[in-house]
Amino acid sequence: MSVTHDVLEADDSGLGVLLRQDHELAEILLAERRRQSTTLQLIAAENFTSPAVLAALGSPLANKYAEGYPGARHHGGCEIADVAERLAVERARTLFGAEHANVQSHSGSSAVLAAYAALLRPGDTVLALGLPYGGHLTHGSPANFSGRWFDFVGYGVDAETGLIDHDQVRTLARTHRPKAIVCGSIAYPRHLDYAAFREVADEVGAYLIADAAHPIGLVAGGAAPSPVPYADIVCATTHKVLRGPRGGMILCGSDLAERVDRAVFPFTQGGAQMHTIAAKAVAFGEAATPAFAGYAHQVVANARALAAQLAAEGLVVTTGGTDTHLLTVDPAPLGVDGRTARGRLAAAGIVLDCCALPHGDARGLRLGTAALTTQGMGEREMRAVATLLAEVLRGGTDAVTARDDVRHLVAEFPPYPE
Ligand SMILES: *Cc1c(COP(=O)(O)O)cnc(C)c1O
Repeated sequence: MSVTHDVLEADDSGLGVLLRQDHELAEILLAERRRQSTTLQLIAAENFTSPAVLAALGSPLANKYAEGYPGARHHGGCEIADVAERLAVERARTLFGAEHANVQSHSGSSAVLAAYAALLRPGDTVLALGLPYGGHLTHGSPANFSGRWFDFVGYGVDAETGLIDHDQVRTLARTHRPKAIVCGSIAYPRHLDYAAFREVADEVGAYLIADAAHPIGLVAGGAAPSPVPYADIVCATTHKVLRGPRGGMILCGSDLAERVDRAVFPFTQGGAQMHTIAAKAVAFGEAATPAFAGYAHQVVANARALAAQLAAEGLVVTTGGTDTHLLTVDPAPLGVDGRTARGRLAAAGIVLDCCALPHGDARGLRLGTAALTTQGMGEREMRAVATLLAEVLRGGTDAVTARDDVRHLVAEFPPYPE
């Protein structure tokens, strides 16, 4: 047993308790911790939450049943839970300048489901970014409730520029008269023009739903425009750039507050997860600090540096760059498709996703800088990562050597103090 294990076993909290009671599971968690601290996390939807957020997640609020809302619960003993949820709601409202916040959604998908439930009836027409262009599963995939219960029409991006074509959005809206228009994506690297979407929604009498799961953390840090003044409902996750616990959130005006709350509970969910809501409160508190604003801007600067160096290495960067934390690239000029590239990079300890590309059928790669930036990496490290990535794809370095390079790089920027 290693020294770390001895130290951990003596620890009366967290992993120490687990190691003594359930060695098998504790070893699995330690292996994941090792994986996270020895490989490069470039998955655009991931981040490292703070120890304070993790502490709230592991707190006794995990034991509490709290169906309903503060002051109107279906269970006894909710007086402390009520204070925690009110604090989370107040912090979210202040952080995003929203009249109303619902912090109970268990995930981003649950938040979108509740937004649809609040505004739509089964069979209604909805206009959203098509899945091949970066729409989320909840934006009309036939494998998801959204595609089964609603009639989705997809807009696209321009095959050449990779940018949303607002003339096409307007034309489709005029033709199909949707009940709601959804803006938001899992892979769009540029700021969305919320005012342009609002204008089309107003013209055809549609609701505007912004699914800001990805950029909401940048919005919190003032590094991206806010959808709150434009959208009827804003759906978001709390675990991406925002760096909170895994979960969802909904922001809206007072006029829709009651419909949104009822759409979350009792329509689509049961008891609130109070430990997660407490952790969301912690994350909102962190996101309101100047340090977080600095972080959000560094995330974007890092993504731009990464995009520029990948382009210099010969990869094709969609839209020619990024405004956000994420970028998508076509590795084809280096002689590999996205799927092969992801596997080769994984073997080298560079962890990222495949994604659709605006042109053609070939898969590309999606990268994000939220996690590496939390670790303290800057533009210099981004350039090193891009160069290493390209070298692996070119076959100029073998997986073992690349993995060593990765380990050395991340060792300087541990996600958590040991
Ligand atoms: C991540 C994401 C979601 C879903 O979040 P989950 O927590 O995984 O359910 C929904 N919409 C968009 C645009 C996303 O990026």
